[in-house]
Amino acid sequence: MGQLIAGNWKMNGLLAEAMALAKAIANGAGGLACDLLVCPPATVIRPVGGALAGTPVAVGGQDCHAAVKGAHTGDLAAAMLRDAGACWVILGHSERRTDHGETDAQVAAKVAAAVAAGLTPIVCVGETEAERLAGRQEAVVGTQLAGSLPGDFAGVVAYEPVWAIGTGRTPTEADVAAMHVFIRAVLLRRLGPSGQAVRILYGGSVNPGNAVALMGLPEVGGALVGGASLVAANFLEIARAAR
Ligand code: PEP
Repeated sequence: MGQLIAGNWKMNGLLAEAMALAKAIANGAGGLACDLLVCPPATVIRPVGGALAGTPVAVGGQDCHAAVKGAHTGDLAAAMLRDAGACWVILGHSERRTDHGETDAQVAAKVAAAVAAGLTPIVCVGETEAERLAGRQEAVVGTQLAGSLPGDFAGVVAYEPVWAIGTGRTPTEADVAAMHVFIRAVLLRRLGPSGQAVRILYGGSVNPGNAVALMGLPEVGGALVGGASLVAANFLEIARAAR
């Protein structure tokens, strides 16, 4: 299985700029060894998906509600993302966990809803800086995995240290490798042999300058890219660093 390079556009992109970015990424996406995904704001999933149809670039959402439908003002059901053309969804991103108080149990319920709607979930986990300084990173990530993943999980995990997101700072290569090896062991214990098939992305200040080193580390199955995914040339250079 190739690596997955996923762009999280977050709350960026009016229609014109989203379309321009999608087209620029699609233009450079031929012949890459990795899988490519962009997760634009929900308002532009359908037009971006239309622009990317027939290209190697897939489209995903950035969150979904756990319920199928109902009185949840402002939220989106997984089936709505699917209906708009998404095939993937990011769940449990640290910005959702912080801004909206999302718990592991809520993330687990969202994972179930996403899978039921035909979406592949990308579940984000990662420690804060205080937790890493206290040496608690494996305990924190282990707890998040235990609480966020169902026993039959078949999606993707993204390890995103909270303190590395949007800061220009990354863990050392040894620390990234150690955490990815730890996550693989947790997945194998929890899911059995199918835990081997779960790609484990690294996310947190990935850029064209550090992508080759990060993508070459053991158990790194790709990258979840925030800021650098908003510039097509940067996103594509990261994708060229992937295997
Ligand atoms: C993210 O928010 O998922 C992320 C990895 O952001 P950045 O690449 O900007 O650190």
